[in-house]
Amino acid sequence: MELSYILNELGEERENYFNAVSPPIIQTSNFTFKTIDEFRQALSNEFEATLYSRGHNPTLNILRKKLAALDNAENALVFSSGIAAISVPILALLQQGDHIVSVENPYSWTIKLFKSFLPKFGITTTFIDGSALQNFKDAIRPETKLIYLESPNTFSYELQDLKAVAVIAKAKNIITMADNSYCSPYYQKPIDFGIDLVAQSATKYIGGHSDVVAGVLSGSTELISRIFNHEFMNIGASLSPHSAWLLIRGLRTLPLRMQRSFESAKAVTSWLRRHPAIDQVIWPFNNDFKQSELAHEQMQGCGGMFSFTLKDPSLEKIETFCNRLKHILMAVSWGGHESLIIPTIATIAKDEYDVNNERHRLIRMYVGLEEADYLIGDLEQALNN
Ligand SMILES: *Cc1c(COP(=O)(O)O)cnc(C)c1O
Repeated sequence: MELSYILNELGEERENYFNAVSPPIIQTSNFTFKTIDEFRQALSNEFEATLYSRGHNPTLNILRKKLAALDNAENALVFSSGIAAISVPILALLQQGDHIVSVENPYSWTIKLFKSFLPKFGITTTFIDGSALQNFKDAIRPETKLIYLESPNTFSYELQDLKAVAVIAKAKNIITMADNSYCSPYYQKPIDFGIDLVAQSATKYIGGHSDVVAGVLSGSTELISRIFNHEFMNIGASLSPHSAWLLIRGLRTLPLRMQRSFESAKAVTSWLRRHPAIDQVIWPFNNDFKQSELAHEQMQGCGGMFSFTLKDPSLEKIETFCNRLKHILMAVSWGGHESLIIPTIATIAKDEYDVNNERHRLIRMYVGLEEADYLIGDLEQALNN
């Protein structure tokens, strides 16, 4: 399906709402039926019906069609957060006693899901370095039900060979799931490589304006309907029609924003790499990135987020640099119009800082939609001060 068709037309039934270009926000909790037969039919198969907005809602359905098509998936569900789009399918598909093989250091709340939440239900996780395929083979047990991927990681950018991991998993009937927030479906489609379920935080690039929290899960209709019929409806992390409308609006400009963020990240990283105060710059599309070849194979382009370290990595130096930034904002999250910075030192106690730990030295920067020179100017004055 053509990208322009997906973003501008797919799912939009304009003749049903006065030929309005922008779809309506169907702000309703429930839907009525004319006959008992129709009512019974909807109640017996809510996945195919619009019955109650904790399940489906017409504004959300427009968004679901577009997001599924963007991922090259049969179906998609939207959630009230990215972490719900990760937690709900895992709760739906795993049982007590099951085992997960996960890449090490996934998104922070995903780690908490695996380390504190799932063990309450007897589900355990082995964390591995996902850059070597052998590590997956070694970690798989008879009770392994899920392989969990995040490629690239959003702090240190490790990749996994999606196609090869999918082959290993399929041979053992293990479900694969990937967090694709970093690339968004615009730059990477894990389903094309054989991954079963793809989650992403729509709070980031899909929304794109730092004004909505949401998540997406794509996959086969078989898996998606199974997840919908039980845990999705039970946990109730559904998105509001207004937030869905904001995401549809975000999608209209997704290609423009992704291209801009990518191009500016190229300019900013190449400037930083030449600056004498900078030690290393970690970005998947840099030639010196350790998995650069795999990145260019799997990804059509690169997200605008990278990390770097200072030549003088003392706590004071990192703090001074970040405190001096005037335009690049200090905050969590990313994917919006505004450029952001978060150093690891903000996430740990001062006395925990270990200068020999590379992760502790990292400063993560997200490049938004500002002019690249404007951002470089800000970095320059903060580094040179
Ligand atoms: C932000 C983020 C999430 C969680 O998404 P929310 O919308 O904040 O719940 C999950 N994975 C990655 C990689 C993220 O960056």
